[in-house]
Amino acid sequence: MKLKKIAAAVGAIALAGSLAACGGDDSGSDAGGEKIKIGIKFDQPGLGFKNADGTYSGFDVDMATYIAEGLGYEKDQIDWKEAVSANRETFLKDGSVDMILATYSITDERKAEVDFGGPYYVAGQDLLIRADDNSITGPDDMKGKKICSVTGSTSAQKVKDEYGAVPQEFDSYSKCITALQGGQIDALTTDDIILAGYSEQFPGEFKIVGQPFSEENYGVGLPKGSKDRDKVNDLIEKSFEDGAWEKAFNDNLGNSGYELPEPPTVDRY
Ligand code: GLU
Repeated sequence: MKLKKIAAAVGAIALAGSLAACGGDDSGSDAGGEKIKIGIKFDQPGLGFKNADGTYSGFDVDMATYIAEGLGYEKDQIDWKEAVSANRETFLKDGSVDMILATYSITDERKAEVDFGGPYYVAGQDLLIRADDNSITGPDDMKGKKICSVTGSTSAQKVKDEYGAVPQEFDSYSKCITALQGGQIDALTTDDIILAGYSEQFPGEFKIVGQPFSEENYGVGLPKGSKDRDKVNDLIEKSFEDGAWEKAFNDNLGNSGYELPEPPTVDRY
């Protein structure tokens, strides 16, 4: 136990040292400096959420905190920034953030603009409908229905490309939730785990159709060419082994009805 602690401390010092040694702009680390700016969602309960008291919670928040700490930052050195689906690549490119954990799927298109650590979770696209609606039982029932999704998401793209739907697009999923409650739309489509978070937030109001029709590999978004990618991947793997990943999931999504899946294999492309 003691030995383990010392080894961990030495490891942390070595990691912090290597960051400090090559910190700054012409550096070995893109994230170096007093603060680390991390992009998360602010309106996705269980994943990335800004609470009424100004604190942040969710699986992405806890994973981001774990990774930031592993990179040598204290909790109070994290500057949380609200990312929406459409501004994630821009935020990474213009330096608005150093890193993004925001239900951010790794795709080849995005990899042309940014880099990814991970994946650290695999979700699947699904549909959320009002609890009393029995008319949508799978993605093929979207025809003729009013579907809502978010601009810049793989979710909106997929229903346009593959299901011929013309979704109403907002900049955040919580706006689709309001529209679903108000009857202006018939279904919200995005990743099942995001839908589970909303479903839990409004008990009895909604149901998830339960026929996932994509694979969404959640990655840690990093600026293109980031030298932190290996370290981030090491930390993701470490979180699978030391129980932090499982705890982050159970603390935030443990009551969502989703079982903790097997951790995915990190892709060191
Ligand atoms: N995971 C999908 C994506 O990255 C949908 C969720 C989101 O928009 O954050 O586009």
